[in-house]
Amino acid sequence: MDVNTNIIQATDFPGQVHEAPGANFLVSTLDDVINWARSNSLWPLTFATSCCGIEMMHVAGAKYDFSRFGFEVARATPRQADVIIIAGTIVNKMAPVLKRLYDQMADPKYVIAMGACAISGGPFFYNTYSVVKGADHVIPVDVYIPGCPPRPEALLHALIALQGKIKAGLTRDQLRDSSPLSQ
Ligand code: SF4
Repeated sequence: MDVNTNIIQATDFPGQVHEAPGANFLVSTLDDVINWARSNSLWPLTFATSCCGIEMMHVAGAKYDFSRFGFEVARATPRQADVIIIAGTIVNKMAPVLKRLYDQMADPKYVIAMGACAISGGPFFYNTYSVVKGADHVIPVDVYIPGCPPRPEALLHALIALQGKIKAGLTRDQLRDSSPLSQ
């Protein structure tokens, strides 16, 4: 994992400044600027249903401090969020709520499934009648983070990888087809 490379890529502005007599001017394309701005202001929806939520909160703390990358504005309403981090088990009663929250988010929106429970129903509850066997049975997932629980570094890496792919102009279909660790 080369986090430093991703950090440098994420902060590069997609344009060139040309020196000219009297003033400088900037050359870029509008799509590149929009993708750059979008990738550096991914606001997460607070959605933690069990123990993985503690690791997610840890990423917002002083040690990992995800505000360095533009994720600090965690929202309690889906209408102001760009990315939903599913941190924990999804039970059948919670599935309609997850779907409603996802539907209320404005496009473009992204989904991260954090931990074994969100990916597949979990290591402990998989054969339980009440647990959904993966969040992608309810909404489309863009990035999967394996582990029980995943370390905060893994979530940070997933967010930075997502940033890189958005900045590269990938559509959601392209994003899902590519590995989260390939950036
Ligand atoms: S993956 Fe492990 S740590 Fe995360 S919610 Fe499931 S049981 Fe808890």
